[in-house]
Amino acid sequence: MSLNPEPKASHYINGEYVEDSDGTPIDLVYPATGEIVGRVHAATPAIVERALAAADAARRGWAAMSGTERGRVLRRAADIMRERNRELSELETMDTGKPLSETLVADATSAADALEYFGGLAGSLTGEHVRLPGGDFAYTIREPLGLCVGIGAWNYPTQIAAWKGAPALACGNTMVFKPSETTPLCALKVAEILTEAGVPPGVYNVVQGMGEVGAALVSDPRVAKVSLTGSVPTGRKVYAMAAQGMKHATMELGGKSPLVIFEDADLDIAVSSAILGNFYSTGQVCSNGTRVFVQEGIVDAFCDRMVERMGRAVIGDPMDEATTIGPMVSARQLDIVEGYIRKGIEEGAELVAGGRRLNRPGFWIEPTLFRNVTDDMTIAREEIFGPVLSVLNFRTEDEALKRANATEFGLAAGVVTRDLSRAHRMVAGFEAGTCYINTFNNAPVEAPFGGMKMSGVGRENSRAAIEHYSQPKSVYVAMAPAEAPF
Ligand code: NDP
Repeated sequence: MSLNPEPKASHYINGEYVEDSDGTPIDLVYPATGEIVGRVHAATPAIVERALAAADAARRGWAAMSGTERGRVLRRAADIMRERNRELSELETMDTGKPLSETLVADATSAADALEYFGGLAGSLTGEHVRLPGGDFAYTIREPLGLCVGIGAWNYPTQIAAWKGAPALACGNTMVFKPSETTPLCALKVAEILTEAGVPPGVYNVVQGMGEVGAALVSDPRVAKVSLTGSVPTGRKVYAMAAQGMKHATMELGGKSPLVIFEDADLDIAVSSAILGNFYSTGQVCSNGTRVFVQEGIVDAFCDRMVERMGRAVIGDPMDEATTIGPMVSARQLDIVEGYIRKGIEEGAELVAGGRRLNRPGFWIEPTLFRNVTDDMTIAREEIFGPVLSVLNFRTEDEALKRANATEFGLAAGVVTRDLSRAHRMVAGFEAGTCYINTFNNAPVEAPFGGMKMSGVGRENSRAAIEHYSQPKSVYVAMAPAEAPF
């Protein structure tokens, strides 16, 4: 392997790499081969303290800069990310196993979009002026929250580090970011590039570690906000911890999203949407449309076309740009997915394609298609986070909408139809933060992204994220002498 993924050190604090080998070792495992390709160390309490102290100390200076100045630095970071896209994409592939054909267009590029977008907004973040009776007036100042903590999942390590960092920094906050222990590499590069672009020391820091490091960060009294991308069980714990300190919180959690395909749909658009919503990143996407409701009359045609298109997937070396399906991120995730496939078969779903672990080193499983899945089956209720597509039959629009919403989750939902009115009716009825018409899983920085119901609180991306990284201060100005009752 030509790429040496091992970072200069485990953590990035105050503008430089920092090591503390007393921390628990975390092996870097390349998912495509299972090889250990390096090692980092979890943060010790001393490292956590150093990172928090650095971010706290950097707060006032960064917030005192004008938004335009902060924005210029973030936009420079976006340019550097784009220039280094190949190197960063290869690192993302090492970290996650996702094929280069994806990482070249969806990870560092998405991070760069966030840095550019929020860098562009930074100079325009102002308060407002409010006229009041008697010449009095109020004005608001949009202030940063302060020290923010970001905690990431393992599926999009570069993107998550930037989706949290870019709006936080644009608003004048500082951040300590903890990546998932499964994918520790990419956030360090984001931090390095921010420094190179001119972000002052201490403004964006990265520490490694497991849940307890995340918990230590979230519970620190200096921290004003926490933004987590992770599972619902972790979200519950972190949200509760944040509540103890009355901290602001954004929770980007899991899903079990529906994709509803009507008989009038263009079959290839339907199949493409289902592929995008189930097999991209080997199914390890929170917003995936894993419950594919197909109207009765086209179930056979849909499944046939799906099997044919799945046959064109190229499963192989993720560093080969022709590859379209990579491995699962870890042995653990592979076991979880295999367990769900077994359950699907046991509970009576019909396995149409895939379902087998591949006999090669690394964490490989075939893209899998089930049909005749019913709402009560485990594979239709629980988030699998793997390449497992379930087809559920339906008859009417009303029935499809009710069943689509009959889940505790509410991250995304999609509809495929040629009937415009029906598409908008369905979207109006979906209980989901992001809806798709005739496609699935696009997440541009310009549009809000986040969940309803158990899928989370708050929104990332777009102007909506500004609300979650800043707060208004109201100032009342009296023009006449103050009158008191006594
Ligand atoms: P986890 O919930 O296991 O972990 C998420 C992060 O939280 C990790 O960095 C983890 O550390 C950390 N963590 C775990 N326990 C605690 C704790 N008690 N206090 C603070 N931090 C803690 O999720 P996964 O990494 O397994 O990611 C998969 C999940 O993420 C899926 O459910 C998926 O739906 C969701 N997700 C949601 C997205 C969204 O935007 N809505 C996008 C992508 C994924 P460590 O792992 O190092 O121990």
